[in-house]
Amino acid sequence: MSDLDELYQEVILDHNKSPRNFRTIENANRKAEGYNPLCGDQVTVYLKLENGVIKDISFQGSGCAISKASASMMTSELKGKTEAEAHGLFENVHRMLTGESAHDGSEKIGKLAILSGVCKFPARVKCASLAWHTVNSALKDRGEVASTE
Ligand code: ZN
Repeated sequence: MSDLDELYQEVILDHNKSPRNFRTIENANRKAEGYNPLCGDQVTVYLKLENGVIKDISFQGSGCAISKASASMMTSELKGKTEAEAHGLFENVHRMLTGESAHDGSEKIGKLAILSGVCKFPARVKCASLAWHTVNSALKDRGEVASTE
């Protein structure tokens, strides 16, 4: 097993064991639900947006380790970001997970790069991207359930 695989597993397991921002936000002004029927992952994302900035973000739900770890990492990463930054990050993560990114270091993705390990397991890509689709629909405030399908 390569170092990256080990690191990847460690991070996933850590976030799964003690997910960050795993709670509801009482005065959230955006909320969206997501569902990944392939695996049965469910997630609800809560946002507190103020003047286009994500002041607070949290999630609740149930699902596999990857979906939970991905949501946990996402909330840590998005807190304090503007809507535009969040959208840019969503695009980058999506490209990375679907293997479209060039891996030339041009895309700023930070710690989320750890999720690129998921590319090797195509069946799990939707688990990893579920929380991102959900936050994207919360930001758009369409009031619909995000689905990976
Ligand atoms: Zn899953």
